[in-house]
Amino acid sequence: MKCATCGADLTGIATDLPFKIGDHSIVIIKNLPVLQCSNCSDYLLEDCTMERVDELLKGIDAKVEVEILQYAA
Ligand SMILES: [Zn+2]
Repeated sequence: MKCATCGADLTGIATDLPFKIGDHSIVIIKNLPVLQCSNCSDYLLEDCTMERVDELLKGIDAKVEVEILQYAA
């Protein structure tokens, strides 16, 4: 896979990313596998990762302000 921004190689890493699920709710998913560009700070999520994130976010009560999840639960 190549970076969509600069064309450099992407490297698979695990990182923590915040997802906004409502006006006042943020979910932080830890140890999320992403493809990080080795040249710029761009990254992307693979489709299968995105689907799993959607599943995780669906299970969250949108009334909480901050929730922290492990990707590999
Ligand atoms: Zn890049």
